[in-house]
Amino acid sequence: MNFVYKFPLKMHVGVACKPIVNIGDTVKRGQCIAVPEGLGAKIHSSVSGLVKEISDTCILIQADEVQNDEYVKIKECNSIKDVCFEAGIVGAGGAGFPTHVKLANDIADGYIIANCVECEPVLSHNISLIEQNPDIVLKGVKYAMEAVKAKNGIIAIKEKNKKAIASLEKIITNYQSITIKKLPDIYPMGEERAIIHEIFDKWLEPTQLPIEANCVVLNTETLANIVKAIEDRKPVIDKDITVGGKLANGSKENVFLQVPIGTPIKEMIEKCGGIDGEYGEVLIGGPYTGLAGNLESDVVTKTSGGIIVTIAFPKYEDKVGLLVCACGANESRLRDIANKMGSEVVEVLPCKNIENIKGANKCKTPGTCPGQAALALQFKKAGAKRLIISNCSDCSNTVMNSAPKLGLGVYHHTDHVFRTVDHELTRRL
Ligand code: SF4
Repeated sequence: MNFVYKFPLKMHVGVACKPIVNIGDTVKRGQCIAVPEGLGAKIHSSVSGLVKEISDTCILIQADEVQNDEYVKIKECNSIKDVCFEAGIVGAGGAGFPTHVKLANDIADGYIIANCVECEPVLSHNISLIEQNPDIVLKGVKYAMEAVKAKNGIIAIKEKNKKAIASLEKIITNYQSITIKKLPDIYPMGEERAIIHEIFDKWLEPTQLPIEANCVVLNTETLANIVKAIEDRKPVIDKDITVGGKLANGSKENVFLQVPIGTPIKEMIEKCGGIDGEYGEVLIGGPYTGLAGNLESDVVTKTSGGIIVTIAFPKYEDKVGLLVCACGANESRLRDIANKMGSEVVEVLPCKNIENIKGANKCKTPGTCPGQAALALQFKKAGAKRLIISNCSDCSNTVMNSAPKLGLGVYHHTDHVFRTVDHELTRRL
């Protein structure tokens, strides 16, 4: 190993961390290198090596030639919440919300919900983890229940993941008060409010958090990180990730468990044989919410879910309208795609289910379409010949029932990703 590992100072919701090492310092794997100065989470080095550079945004560490699995353990703590703080645990599903803040709640009559939905197609490292080690997920739920004094735990998982469900069912009787809720395979079933709606048949307002339904929702890998922090005193230094797409070793997804944080994404792609010829973009994240990454500078972080290399975009040098979803690509991502296709954007409209809350788009009822026909008409009037949409499964279905009748072509922003991996396109249900 002879790489430079990059540790962004903000891999979480909140403010950037403050470095506590200096250039030229030697560090050990697991050593804390940056601390939060407000809402945030500690950052630990995933490698032993030499601090090479420190900037406002990251710390670069030149890794020692030889690495091993040993790490500096976090200090002993009196509470599960404090363990999570010391270990720098954040929502590993992409949100990056500090876990110690979630576990500071007291919900004696509430629920811990394990978000095992792995909502984004292609990504499969969470389901792989459950199949291989269901015990760590159940234990994580138990510890989280203890932390917030919740009497019940629920594993929310898509019904299609039969092998993972069977692994859980085999041992769930060892755990009291934890049940499994099977969910349909539609997008965005992993959205927290969508999960709560499926379980309790009640929609939270877009302004409300799960805690207002007496729930704390934690992602699969986050639960595993809680167990490792409590039982092995291990900080968050490794990340599970899926790599797939236009790769020399084939387009089938590759699951890597426990990749050192800070690893260059280029290195992960090389592990899969490298990029197979011409490509469109390197997507960091899943097909719906991922963003175009930079092959030279992006690294695996605490919240990275996927690395997907796509085929080239189709050329469409004509007028397009952008239909923006709160749970898929935002306007900027859709504009980026339109630009890469050579299209001229003549209209941008949000799904009418969107509410803007403090500058962020939130859906009132994620995954339940409010109707899109009126918007299709508006796009037509604006001169669009084609729509680029980022809608959920239900709304894409509705768009397909109206736009083509008006002579409008439809490109879903996941199309080039799904064509790369031979996955069904987001169109009709
Ligand atoms: S209802 Fe609209 S905003 Fe909500 S998930 Fe579907 S497309 Fe997105």
